[in-house]
Amino acid sequence: MAGVVRDWRAELVESYPDLFRSGDPPRVQGWPAVGDGWRDLMQRACVRIRAAVQADGGTFKFTQIKEKFGSARLYWDGKLPPEGAAQVEDAIDLAEARSACTCEVCGHEGRLYGPGWLLTRCDAHNEGRQREPIRPGMENIFFETRIVGGQREVRCRRYVRETDSFVDVDLSTLEIEED
Ligand SMILES: [Zn+2]
Repeated sequence: MAGVVRDWRAELVESYPDLFRSGDPPRVQGWPAVGDGWRDLMQRACVRIRAAVQADGGTFKFTQIKEKFGSARLYWDGKLPPEGAAQVEDAIDLAEARSACTCEVCGHEGRLYGPGWLLTRCDAHNEGRQREPIRPGMENIFFETRIVGGQREVRCRRYVRETDSFVDVDLSTLEIEED
């Protein structure tokens, strides 16, 4: 209809029929049920995931996209070769890490607010809540457990918002003090 502003979520789903299931929004499985501030990181994720799927072949569909504990969660199913699957997981890790430092309302840099229902918000949209305490040095640190050659391997990375990328962090350089 003329004059109706289309929702970015509907446009995203339509722009990436290779990644999203078709159906009536917003009930379609995998619908991007997140706030407007995360539009940009969802678009970045779709660009990266499409590239990975097209490069390596296989199938991919989002099964659920939601906010949980203040950050985005992107779930999918499909069949991808190991390299493609790893690239998809990297794209999803980047999106989830970016959501953890991006206001879900406006997209500006944000922090985790609580207590109770956790939200990632900027100062303007924190609804008068309190910043969740973070240990100095632990900002934007993500731990990831992977099975490599049958061995459990813990990776530690820091998300860098300016470059939208991870840098590996040597676990021994983190001052994790036991109380
Ligand atoms: Zn905001």
